[in-house]
Amino acid sequence: MRYLSGSLCPPVSTDAVTMDKIVSLSKRRGFVFPSSEIYGGLGSSYDYGHYGVLLKDNVKARWLEAMVRERDDIVALDSSIILHPEVWKASGHVGGFSDPLVDCRLCKQRFREDHLETERCGKRPSKKPGETAECDLTEARQFNLMFRTRVGAMEESGVDVYLRPETAQGIFINFKNVASIARRKPPFGIAQVGKSFRNEITPGNFIFRTLEFEQMEMEFFVPPAEADEWYRYWVAERLAWHVRYGVRESHLRVRPHEADELSHYSRGTSDIEYLFPIGWSELEGIANRGDFDLTQHTEASGTKLEWVDAGTGERFVPHVVEPALGVNRSMLAFLIDAYDEEVVGERQRTVLRLHPQLAPVKAAVLPLVGKDAAMVEMARSLFEELRRHHSVEYDDNGAIGRRYRRQDEIGTPYGLTIDEQTLEDETVTVRDRDSLEQERLPIGGVRARIGELLAADWRSPKVG
Ligand code: ATP
Repeated sequence: MRYLSGSLCPPVSTDAVTMDKIVSLSKRRGFVFPSSEIYGGLGSSYDYGHYGVLLKDNVKARWLEAMVRERDDIVALDSSIILHPEVWKASGHVGGFSDPLVDCRLCKQRFREDHLETERCGKRPSKKPGETAECDLTEARQFNLMFRTRVGAMEESGVDVYLRPETAQGIFINFKNVASIARRKPPFGIAQVGKSFRNEITPGNFIFRTLEFEQMEMEFFVPPAEADEWYRYWVAERLAWHVRYGVRESHLRVRPHEADELSHYSRGTSDIEYLFPIGWSELEGIANRGDFDLTQHTEASGTKLEWVDAGTGERFVPHVVEPALGVNRSMLAFLIDAYDEEVVGERQRTVLRLHPQLAPVKAAVLPLVGKDAAMVEMARSLFEELRRHHSVEYDDNGAIGRRYRRQDEIGTPYGLTIDEQTLEDETVTVRDRDSLEQERLPIGGVRARIGELLAADWRSPKVG
């Protein structure tokens, strides 16, 4: 049912970055930890540390800003994870949200049939599954990806329910509530950010594919005749969002689905793909879903989900265009695209060239000599002023070079150093993470300057 295009399509990125480097930096600096590590780990789940939480929050905030705050035609929603089980029958998920699963009787490995081209044989990793006599693959079986659980205190009287595998259905079943209360007329959209769960057959590649993840989905309801136009609009709009927050255009591409790949509901789908170290792979999907969802829920629930114009009496079932992006996958793309290594003054430094508006920490306040009471006092006072407005850090521990390297690795765009000269003339150096240029500013002007820098347009200095 689904299609991971990326690994079918070389080339692999030529950057210094590899998935191993991202995994190691993420752990070392407290972005992402393997889950349940002290119990041996659970391969496909991850926990997010301090900087991971801040980065993830910034990704969600930038998405919500672009979808809701900067527009007049989209409102927000937060629907439940556990919905009425009939929702998933009507949506087609109970019957059809499955992947074809293939087992190897000899090496006992399990594969997605639609990924066999890119998987490795368990016995001979240079070969694909099924390519040699050492493989004995079963027929494909459909495996439903929804996690099932039970609601109710008593086992006998309980009801089977599902953890949602996407946030979209919570939006469709609220169409009537939102359309009437928000007084919206198509074209208008409903945006939602929240957790989804999929019992993936082959999770992996770090946080690219996990069992639980967050999604940012927006359902845009339009008059049927305008659906194609809005579909093209949202493909362009979403591509521009990734570029706006620093992903290099050369590492992004749009891939329209072939007719035989389309989901049952789709009249057209395009993936925005990113050149991950594993190859071109889906980052975000944009689908023209027609009237499938509203019609299905109307039939199954008996509640008419349609637009009725109170003035003219005109009525129609809107068509839906949906951009759907994984928060964690987006965060991974930002981390990979930002990762850089360079030699500065004979020392290698690793730096995350994150867009300042995504960076977990915006500025670090660093007294040059951590034991100098006067410097510490001035630095603390600057830090206290800035922390009321931005996510900033104070650090007086260890050699200044080490402190800079730590901030470079978590992607802090600005370093503010308090030194001897500050004590004399109350000026501070502002160090730019990417160019390493330093400017000297009066301490009283730092807050305004940081605000200005953070608000400015930004492009990745990485080339290629
Ligand atoms: P894939 O082909 O990679 O399995 P999909 O086409 O099934 O993805 P959608 O159902 O379109 O994905 O979900 C929208 C977005 O949610 C994806 O583009 C991706 O960013 C994210 N996503 C989907 N499944 C996962 C997962 N298991 N882990 C992390 N992110 C996911």
